[in-house]
Amino acid sequence: MNRVIARKLAANAYELRASQRQFCNDAAAKLSNSNLSHPNNECEVKQRFTDNVQSHDIAIVGGGMVGMALACSLATMPLTKHLNVAIIDSNPALRSNYCIKKEDPPDPRVSTVTPATISFFKDVGAWKYVEQHRHAYFDKMQVWDYTGSGYTRYNARDINKEALGCVVENKVLQSSLISSMHNTDFQKTIYPSRLTSMAILPSSSSTGVDKSSSAIVSYPRGQLAKLELSDGGSLCAKLVVGADGGKSQVRELAGFKITGWNYYQNAVICTVEHSVENHCAWQRFLPSGPIALLPISDKFSNIVWTMNPNELDCKMNEDDFVKALNHALDYGYGPHPKSGVLGSADIFSWFRGDVTMSANECFEVPPKVVKLASERMVFPLSLKHANDYVAKRTVLIGDAAHTVHPLAGQGVNMGFGDASALSRIIADGIAVGTDIGEISLLKKYEAERKSANVMMMAVLDGFQKAYSVDFGPLNVLRAAAFHGAHHISPLKRIIVSFASGQLRLPFFS
Ligand SMILES: Cc1cc2nc3c(=O)[nH]c(=O)nc-3n(C[C@H](O)[C@H](O)[C@H](O)COP(=O)(O)OP(=O)(O)OC[C@H]3O[C@@H](n4cnc5c(N)ncnc54)[C@H](O)[C@@H]3O)c2cc1C
Repeated sequence: MNRVIARKLAANAYELRASQRQFCNDAAAKLSNSNLSHPNNECEVKQRFTDNVQSHDIAIVGGGMVGMALACSLATMPLTKHLNVAIIDSNPALRSNYCIKKEDPPDPRVSTVTPATISFFKDVGAWKYVEQHRHAYFDKMQVWDYTGSGYTRYNARDINKEALGCVVENKVLQSSLISSMHNTDFQKTIYPSRLTSMAILPSSSSTGVDKSSSAIVSYPRGQLAKLELSDGGSLCAKLVVGADGGKSQVRELAGFKITGWNYYQNAVICTVEHSVENHCAWQRFLPSGPIALLPISDKFSNIVWTMNPNELDCKMNEDDFVKALNHALDYGYGPHPKSGVLGSADIFSWFRGDVTMSANECFEVPPKVVKLASERMVFPLSLKHANDYVAKRTVLIGDAAHTVHPLAGQGVNMGFGDASALSRIIADGIAVGTDIGEISLLKKYEAERKSANVMMMAVLDGFQKAYSVDFGPLNVLRAAAFHGAHHISPLKRIIVSFASGQLRLPFFS
């Protein structure tokens, strides 16, 4: 698979370079005179759709983290903030009166967001809302192997940063994007419903009614997609964005093919409490997969424990579960690693160049879990990748386009990268007067994001496979990899920069 991916990547990289172009300086002025302009700042929540079919420039199906990131990005860019956008999702979080109670314990659904994602949130005005809620920066990370054969520690100062990432509850990320979007003049209509069917309008349907601007807008033949909703309503849009997650209806209805496989592993997630503060992200590779302990506030952490479906009875009582957790994070399955188990850690000294801050840090035992602080949730794990991201008037972003193993906490970060790229490419199209549902424009988005996502998926899948085998020679190789990653400073910087979303490898950029 990886050779095929690499060949496709080279083609995509070439296509991308060829497609790069300058924005027109006077584009914003042009846009304000175009028929995309809707100065009205009303957020209309549709309870039920009756007679006329309303038309929009864009229909975003799925108002999860990635769908809202796209809406928010469109709302804040000069060239796209005039678009008339529909957001379709029955999730109550999209209602304006939805609020997050600070006194509730941390939700078990969290994401580790990279510095690149934090920059994106700052650009779209959403990070200030994250900062008003619970979030936990971490500046250190320790990864180790249950065989005791190796460990790696990373420190934000290795790459001259203050943090390696930040752990935030998913509902906080989503509501921060919603708050930021509500804070703009964006013309959006929220449909609290679900998509049930969609079709490109046949050539005879050439007129759409745009009720929001009280005008009949003429669209050339075949320039609209029509969506039917579960509440009986329907709407039309020039562009349909599938941001509806791993089981995407848009992907299914538009006939996108996917490549993928199940890992036959589950991720068990929950919130736990410690008696001491934790500001480090910990990950230990066990025989059936990794267990991660991620800080979410001073004394609370999030657990993501990957295991075979029958390995642990999640209904076991809380005390037994806490014991099993501490066993998995400490001495269970094997000893603590020591420096220099390959004979001498200094075998890499000729490689090192300068020495990173963390190269001299010793192995540490993670803080003990004292209490379970939430329900336990179980997610079956799989890899899925849409063979194409775009079709006529349709585009996929986020988990609708790619679902990955959570072992490196990259899934939603990849989705935010999609949202950022798509909004930029839509703006690019508007700047030169291109139809935003035109496949030649959408292909530029595909060329940019597919290469980055496939690269990340290949790395994550490789990790998953390398760490799910217990075999003597492979264990030695893994130990060498841990030592290399710990001691070879340039390699370490590349790994940290790549994982934090700040580096794209030359071949893929
Ligand atoms: C255990 C676990 C841990 C993870 N940890 C991390 C991490 O640390 N960092 C990270 O980057 N990623 C992580 N991920 C991945 C991350 O959770 C996903 O990538 C992310 O949730 C995808 O966001 P999305 O908006 O694309 O899809 P979703 O979150 O699935 O949202 C889809 C939205 O679409 C709506 N929808 C669905 N169908 C329809 C329909 N027919 N009509 C209208 N609306 C519809 C849903 O209501 C939902 O609101 C983790 C995943 C798992 C399972």
